[in-house]
Amino acid sequence: MEEIKRQREARKAEKEAAKLAKKAKKAAQAAEREAAEQATAIKNDITFDDTSSICGDYEVVTSKTSNLRTYTPLISTVSGSSAWLRCRLQSIRVKGGSVFLVLRQDTFNTMQGVFFKADLPDSDDSARMIKYMKSLTAESIVDVYGSVVDSDVKSCTVGDREIKIQRIHAVSKSDPVLPFELEDAARSKEEVEASQDTERPFPNLGQELRLDNRWMDLRVPANNAILRVKSGVCQLFRESLYSQGFTEIQTPKLIGGESESGAGVFKTDYFGSEACLAQSPQLYKQMAIASDFPRVFEVGPVFRAENSNTRRHLCEFVGLDLEMAINEHYTETLSVCHRMFKHIFEGLESRYGAEMDVIRSQYFSEPVEFTEEPCIIHWEDGIKMIEEAGFDVGDGMQDLTGAQELALGKVVKEKYKTDFFILDQYPSSIRPFYTMPMAHDKRFSNSYDMFIRGQEICSGAQRCHDATMLREVIKSKGLEEGLQVGGGLEKYVKSFENGISPHAGAGIGLERVVFLALGLDNVRKASMFPRDPNRLTP
Ligand code: ATP
Repeated sequence: MEEIKRQREARKAEKEAAKLAKKAKKAAQAAEREAAEQATAIKNDITFDDTSSICGDYEVVTSKTSNLRTYTPLISTVSGSSAWLRCRLQSIRVKGGSVFLVLRQDTFNTMQGVFFKADLPDSDDSARMIKYMKSLTAESIVDVYGSVVDSDVKSCTVGDREIKIQRIHAVSKSDPVLPFELEDAARSKEEVEASQDTERPFPNLGQELRLDNRWMDLRVPANNAILRVKSGVCQLFRESLYSQGFTEIQTPKLIGGESESGAGVFKTDYFGSEACLAQSPQLYKQMAIASDFPRVFEVGPVFRAENSNTRRHLCEFVGLDLEMAINEHYTETLSVCHRMFKHIFEGLESRYGAEMDVIRSQYFSEPVEFTEEPCIIHWEDGIKMIEEAGFDVGDGMQDLTGAQELALGKVVKEKYKTDFFILDQYPSSIRPFYTMPMAHDKRFSNSYDMFIRGQEICSGAQRCHDATMLREVIKSKGLEEGLQVGGGLEKYVKSFENGISPHAGAGIGLERVVFLALGLDNVRKASMFPRDPNRLTP
């Protein structure tokens, strides 16, 4: 009996010991796991002056430190040297112990970054590095440090070298879900169309989706380059006009009356009275001439409340305006404009060649063809050409439709080998009140439009600078209300009563120039954040 009891107790003790051993083993394993996790734990909120960390998110940059390091543009990296790069992480591919990254700068320069498990002597460090890289999301901004080595990388624009990564830190992380893939957004229409009959058709991204996420859309190299070219057009415009003796001015955009009769106007409250958002700097650039600025130009916003949902209308665009005193004839202004446009067309090809190549790889176009001397078509000749092209032109005194302008552009291109031309001497009845009538036939006027590829980019005229004449025209057009005190035109006409040089000028739509010079399908592509009747954000 005693023996049985002893044996039972021994078995119980054995069981207890086995249980304890199992528990201890589990605890040891957990401790081991924790130790391993701690060894590969990723420390975040790393400061710039922390030189010991090899990976992890930087703390939010709040300008705590400065000048701690020099960054190298990836296109300037040299094989055999070490460098810090700040770039976007375009993509990341982890394969076992190897990591391949595509780093991007300036939207289209890319360089390969690589990391191999064996690169670091400590296996914990390697594991931590790979774990961190796996956690990074495409489109994040990262700082990368490493040694640049010779390589042969077909998929990056920097093809002869790559960076062996020794440190990597996220400066700003992107959400893992992007509104669309940049690769999809960067395909040409032709490429997308051609893929539709294949097993894996490329997605056709709509314009609204792109515009809703414009900051992403503008990371597409061609879209980004369009806005760089737009900046170039402004610079070339300024350069040419400065060299032709112009002064840049800034006119008010909050004004007391409409600046363009006929164009829709946005109205707003102005301390209890009504103000208009300027539809052009027209009246003010003319008053600048009255103020003895003989040649002026402006680059500024223009607001049009036109409910036009077309490919070429915006509710806010940038006006490139110029006005100049003339001696005898407004052709003096046409020569200035022609020189300026030539400077723009030539400058785009010679100075913005890289951007033009990128744009044309997605949106194909030929360079704008232009003539050495201005190609001027008189209204009546233009009307004949349009009629010969098969259009009904009525009495020949009506404004041209878009289709008629395109047809004219086609005929002019064939006949004069130019995409850029001037249509001159428009009927007075379809031009604004301030237009000078033609000396010999008042049915027509000293006014002109300029076209690229058969679409209007510019309107201009000699202005009526005689106050008496101007008052009469204003009355004949039924706009006399404007002449009353506070009516918008009162001071404008008054400014002509103290002597003003005869003058002429032009108003050009910057986005129109960009979209037509680049042969794009929609003016919105030339606006960073377009405003149209259906879009006020972002
Ligand atoms: P359109 O007939 O094309 O509507 P418009 O005759 O009303 O133009 P103007 O008032 O003469 O144009 O303006 C001068 C220039 O400003 C135009 O040649 C064009 O380049 C640009 N522009 C005018 N309206 C718009 C708009 N809504 N969106 C973009 N650009 C415009």
